[in-house]
Amino acid sequence: MRVAVFSSKSYDQKFLEAANRNYNHELVFFEPRLTSSTIILAAGFPAVCLFVNDQGDGTILKALAENGTRLIALRCAGFNQIDLQTAKELGITVVRVPAYSPYAVAEHAIGLILTLNRHLHRAYQRVREDNFSLEGLLGFDLYGKTVGIIGTGKIGAIIANILHGFGCKLLAYDLYPNPHCQELGVKYVQLPELYPAADIITLHCPLTPETHHLIDAQALGMMKQGVMLINTSRGPLLNATAAIAALKSGKIGYLGLDVYEGESNLFFEDLSTAVIQDDVFQRLLTFPNVVITGHQAFFTDTALENIAETTLANIRDFAAGNGCVNEVV
Ligand code: NAD
Repeated sequence: MRVAVFSSKSYDQKFLEAANRNYNHELVFFEPRLTSSTIILAAGFPAVCLFVNDQGDGTILKALAENGTRLIALRCAGFNQIDLQTAKELGITVVRVPAYSPYAVAEHAIGLILTLNRHLHRAYQRVREDNFSLEGLLGFDLYGKTVGIIGTGKIGAIIANILHGFGCKLLAYDLYPNPHCQELGVKYVQLPELYPAADIITLHCPLTPETHHLIDAQALGMMKQGVMLINTSRGPLLNATAAIAALKSGKIGYLGLDVYEGESNLFFEDLSTAVIQDDVFQRLLTFPNVVITGHQAFFTDTALENIAETTLANIRDFAAGNGCVNEVV
C-alpha cells in the first residue's frame, strides 16, 4: 500500500524501512507534522501513518477523505488526537499500536521518580563543575513510601510491579481494577482517598474528556504538601498553570513530566536556537524540582521495532480487507 508517513524522523525511517522488508509497502517519509498547512502532502495516498502530535480533527479528516485517504495508521497507542466519530462518518479506518513496550514507558516513569527523589539532575550538573557539595541534595528513601497509581492498565501494572519491589505501599485508582495489581496487594481507592495519602502520584490513564485536567487546582489542593507528581501519559491530564501555582506554594515538591499540554509546538524538534513563546513551559523549566523530558518515554529500540512491525502489519491487514485486530472503534 502507498503510505504517507508524517512526523517522520531518521529513527522512524530506519525502523520502518527495516521492518518493511517483509511487507513491501510503498512508504514515503515526510518530516512535517500533519496539519492543515501540510495536508497537501497526503494527496493521493490511500494511507497515512501518524504519530502523537499529528492533527486528526474533523477538518483535517475531511480533507484527507477528499484526497482519497481511507486508512490512518497510528504508530502510537493513544488515539486522542483523532476525531473518531468523523473518521467513521467519512469511512476512514483508524488503526493503532495498542502495546509496543509498556516496559519502556514504565521504566522511564521510574527514572523520573529516581531522578527527582535524589536530585540526580542537579548532582550531574554540580559534579561537572567540580562542585561536590551535598547541600540541597538531601533525598528520601522510596522504601515505605505510599505511591498512588492512576490507571493500572499495561503501563500502570508494570509500575506497580517495580514499586512493589522497592517496598512501596501502593494505592490505585482505575475504573476497572486490575486483578494482577490486586494480587500484588495494591489497594484500590477513590481519588479523594488517594490524593491525601500518596507521597508520589503517577498518571497512567488515557486522555479522554473525563481525564482532561484531571489534576487541576482542586485535585492538587487535596494532595500532601510536597507531593511528587509524575506524568508520562498525556499532557492535558495536568493543568500546567495550576501545577506552577502548586510548585510556587510548595504543594508540589517534585514534578516529573514526559508530556506537556502544549507539547505539539515544542517536542520532537531542535528549538535550541529559537525563542520559545510558551511562557507556561518556560516557567516550568525554572524550578529546581522539575524534570521534563520531551515525550521520550516510549523511545527504546524494542519499542521502535514493535511499533514498526505492528504498524506495517496493520496496513497489510487493512489492504487485504480482512479486518484489523488493532482497529480503533
Ligand atoms: P491501557 O489502556 O493498558 O491502560 C489504561 C488504564 O487506564 C486502563 O486500565 C483504564 O481502565 C484506565 N482508565 C481509563 N479511564 C480512566 C479514568 N478516567 N480514570 C482512571 N483510570 C482510567 O494503556 P497503557 O498502555 O497502560 O497506556 C497508558 C497511557 O500511557 C496511554 O493512554 C498513553 O496516553 C500513555 N503513553 C505514553 C507514552 C509516552 O511515550 N510518554 C507511550 C505510550 C503510552
